[in-house]
Amino acid sequence: MTDNCVFCRIIRGEAPARIVFQDDEITAFWDIAPKTPIHLLVVPNTHYDSLNQLQAADSALLGRLILTAARLAAENGIADDGYRLVINTGPDAGQSVSHLHLHLIGGRHMPVFFG
Ligand code: 5GP
Ligand code: ZN
Repeated sequence: MTDNCVFCRIIRGEAPARIVFQDDEITAFWDIAPKTPIHLLVVPNTHYDSLNQLQAADSALLGRLILTAARLAAENGIADDGYRLVINTGPDAGQSVSHLHLHLIGGRHMPVFFG
């Protein structure tokens, strides 16, 4: 946990967010500036700056992050129409919050994107 990380503060309940899921490993909440009708962020409760900090021992956590996103997609009614999971990593990808997070976006058609 880091004091100056907004996602750590959300996880700790110190900053407001529309949390949709939380357990001892993972927190999921609505993005403050949604790009699509459904735009949730799924984050580990432990602070990692980015995907670059994960190691083989974190494989189960990474799997749980992805499966949590898939479950939230189903709960939000977009599993069949489709959705996208995005992990921006580093400056070239436009990562703006340095706490590993997985975007779940969907609820409308999204053009194929290779940026
Ligand atoms: P990135 O660009 O790092 O992949 O994504 C960061 C995301 O976090 C952005 O979509 C942005 O809207 C969202 N975000 C930034 N600050 C906050 C906040 O304080 N609360 C919430 N819920 N989302 C945030
Ligand atoms: Zn953090």
